[in-house]
Amino acid sequence: MEPIQLGGPHYKICECDCGAEFYGRRNQKYFDPSHKSKVNNAKRDKRNEKFKPWFDEMIISYRALQIGIKNVDKDNWVYIGKLTKLGFDPEVATKGLTGKDGNRYKHILDLAFRLSDDKKYVQIFKYK
Ligand SMILES: [Zn+2]
Repeated sequence: MEPIQLGGPHYKICECDCGAEFYGRRNQKYFDPSHKSKVNNAKRDKRNEKFKPWFDEMIISYRALQIGIKNVDKDNWVYIGKLTKLGFDPEVATKGLTGKDGNRYKHILDLAFRLSDDKKYVQIFKYK
């Protein structure tokens, strides 16, 4: 492949492993910004890989809550067994918040939940 004249006098081979040859500035490592993005995205994906099991648990619990909220009673309670059989984990990593009612809730995105004192029921609210 014939090297492409680009932004400078220095002969380069793109460091993203695409094999592109070009002439660039002394400190230019990549053929163009899209090749640099490709490398940075791959680094980021590798960094985030170890968080995937947590994310998966969060997604599973969130889906269970989405189904659960359709089955709550008039005070927004649902039997926890209906959620745990869908993979819901009340200890899932979440953020906490204090509701207008003064109770402490956990939440995933738009769904807030808390356990009853006997831990048999889950109260679920959708909030904005
Ligand atoms: Zn490249």
